[in-house]
Amino acid sequence: MSPAFNAKAQGRGGAKETKPCPVPGCPAEREGTKLMCLTHWRLVPISIQREVWSYWRNRNMAEYWPARSRAIDAAAAAELAKRNLNSGGPQAELKI
Ligand SMILES: [Zn+2]
Repeated sequence: MSPAFNAKAQGRGGAKETKPCPVPGCPAEREGTKLMCLTHWRLVPISIQREVWSYWRNRNMAEYWPARSRAIDAAAAAELAKRNLNSGGPQAELKI
């Protein structure tokens, strides 16, 4: 069992626990009860977001962890695509 689940059960207030965003290369912090930083969560397709939430609410951990991995993969892929666009990336060649 991950410490993240215990943190939610404590709920005594005080300082909010933060952890690093699990998306590779992301410098942002997330709240201990959140899967990733908000910027990256917004990049996750809504269908995967719903899966993650539904498994989390039902405490279906056997399904939650694979869904969580899919969400992180999707955010990482979207982040990569965004970076390629911003830096010119492979598409810059089209302008030449
Ligand atoms: Zn992030």
